[in-house]
Amino acid sequence: MTPDIKPFVAGNWKMNGQRDSLDQLALMARGVDEALFDKVDVVVCPPATLLYVATTLSEDTPLMVGAQDCHREAKGAHTGDVSAEMVADCLGEFCIVGHSERRTDHGETDFHVAGKAQACWRAGLTAIICIGETEAEYDSGRAEEVLGRQLAMSVPEGATEKDTVIAYEPVWAIGTGKTPSPDDIRDIHAFIRDVLVERFGGHGERMRILYGGSVKPDNATELLSVNNVDGALVGGASLKAQDFLAICESYRKV
Ligand code: PEP
Repeated sequence: MTPDIKPFVAGNWKMNGQRDSLDQLALMARGVDEALFDKVDVVVCPPATLLYVATTLSEDTPLMVGAQDCHREAKGAHTGDVSAEMVADCLGEFCIVGHSERRTDHGETDFHVAGKAQACWRAGLTAIICIGETEAEYDSGRAEEVLGRQLAMSVPEGATEKDTVIAYEPVWAIGTGKTPSPDDIRDIHAFIRDVLVERFGGHGERMRILYGGSVKPDNATELLSVNNVDGALVGGASLKAQDFLAICESYRKV
């Protein structure tokens, strides 16, 4: 954790969830009460098809809702895409950009990711900008070089703690059950903090840096206890309200 930064837990449902998953969303909305919200900000990012109903279900609760991606343009001839303005129109408040699955599946580059982050800001959303090295890059000791480049090119000028959250997600830890050691996470998050402070000054000091990659109820407390880990981006374990709320609860207690 970073002193004076409120922890933040975001759930990324990826391409999972149909209408019959809305009972899980309703349970999450009920579970994120004022006592939890006092200590932790909680966001769930369902697929775009469920976005509006999710914001409706969480209305009048502290649970916030976000999208998993957006186009850099506000509207136009981009079949199948969703704009940040459309997310805001569905009352979403956040949008994940640059997830490694988008970088791999859709060939998104740092340039695209920066454009999407700016689109989020234009629409009044907070961008959750993902960065992370592959296993080969990690094994060859190039993690910092890769992350430094991603931070420089994916995070646009002018980012602040209000419009931007950084999610460090080692690609090799996503959905694999593997996580870096707490010492490795501490070193990488310290590196990310230094880069953010150098570039954004006080905003960089206050910007939240999440860890993502196989966060589960049983490792959440250990991971949040690491310096400069200000919360988690959770994939698989965010699909079930019981697991997701258990992660949020463990962050409340740290
Ligand atoms: C993710 O998709 O952002 C993620 C971290 O997935 P998981 O928690 O399943 O590893």
